[in-house]
Amino acid sequence: RAPPPLPSSASAALLSSSSSPLLPTEASSRAAIVDAMLSQVAQGAEDAFYIVDVGAALDRLALWRRLLPEVEPFYAVKCCPDPMLLYALARAGIGFDCASMGEMRQLLEMGVPAERILYANPCKQASHLRFAARHGVGLSVFDSSAELHKHAALLPHADALLRIAVDDSSAACVMSCKYGAPLADARALLLEAQRLGVRVRGVSFHVGSGCTSPLAFVDAVARAADVFSAARSLGAPMDLLDVGGGFPGVDTPALSFAAIAAPLRRALHAHFPSGVRFLAEPGRFLAASTHTLAVNVIGRKPLPAAPPSAPSEMYFVNDGIYGSFNCVLYDHAHPSPRPLPTPSLADALAAPHTLASVWGPTCDGLDCVVQSTSLPRLPVGSWLYFEDMGAYTVAAGSSFNGMPPPSKLYLHALRHAAPLDPPRREAHAALQAATA
Ligand code: PLP
Repeated sequence: RAPPPLPSSASAALLSSSSSPLLPTEASSRAAIVDAMLSQVAQGAEDAFYIVDVGAALDRLALWRRLLPEVEPFYAVKCCPDPMLLYALARAGIGFDCASMGEMRQLLEMGVPAERILYANPCKQASHLRFAARHGVGLSVFDSSAELHKHAALLPHADALLRIAVDDSSAACVMSCKYGAPLADARALLLEAQRLGVRVRGVSFHVGSGCTSPLAFVDAVARAADVFSAARSLGAPMDLLDVGGGFPGVDTPALSFAAIAAPLRRALHAHFPSGVRFLAEPGRFLAASTHTLAVNVIGRKPLPAAPPSAPSEMYFVNDGIYGSFNCVLYDHAHPSPRPLPTPSLADALAAPHTLASVWGPTCDGLDCVVQSTSLPRLPVGSWLYFEDMGAYTVAAGSSFNGMPPPSKLYLHALRHAAPLDPPRREAHAALQAATA
């Protein structure tokens, strides 16, 4: 599959050069990111900011291709619709899972061909379906009779995947409470699709985001195989299985991508011997490690009367629950702060640490980022940073209390000492010209 056409801006030239700065390099290391943050602070930064390293997503993609080569990733845009991240992934040749017209438009404007878009929201607004039809999106998902009727009426030339409910009880964020047809309904839905003239190419599922059990994937694959059998018995064999998202954003001692990929591959080979195309919709897996967030300590309150087991310091920082750290509420995240080792913090870093809580900047008592963690004594004006903040963070942040989301600095642009604007404006102009 050809990569999308490149816009002609200087920033695009950076992306496309043969010594592409987006290729994973030694500069994609954590140390380079810390250096970039220190340099921003030395230049007088005060607002919270992100260092974005899209090379980290390409490293993850390389890992995916090594450990799960038969499954084509379609990046779940909702997880982090950062334009540079999307652009790098598009150039790497993968597809995209879109939830809405807005996401499809963003990709089409970037030059991503419609055949690389999977409209994977099981419940879609009619105008968004019409948009998909106008732009030639050829694959979508349904899990109910009502959605099937909308598909037949508004996206008639596209194929469909039947999303089934699976066991997502081991995930941080469950989805089967809302989406996925029960297996018992699958046959009736397939029959209805036949009546309506919708070609159901296969099955999709989602084991829940932040899935902690490789067995959840194995079990879901077996359920999907049952639906394939039902479709065969109805004379409408399937040839596409979408194993969804749920893959970990970072490897931990408790769960690695390898620990999921190996049994998943075995299950795919056992249940689907040949002739079936496999897709997946990873979000967190690709996005998490691309963003590192630096926040400024804008206030502190000692709590001298606190018992030894409770935080004895409160730190206030300039991004919080209503911004990037909405992940604490929506994604059940437990962010882990690290002090940025600026020269002025050297003594504090060497001194004993104390228990502290970390709070966001809004006037709401809910706005607590970390309840209790061990930190050095941080003067106002010092910095904390949080790694692996790419997934489900800025994507759902707000400007509550008049506090906008942090700005972003792209690691490779910093290295090349040139601004690396998202290519969107020029790509949009190119799309307009092409479709005029
Ligand atoms: N696919 C669908 C339909 C989703 O709703 C989501 C997340 O909400 C994803 C994929 C991505 O999931 P994850 O980030 O766990 O890979």
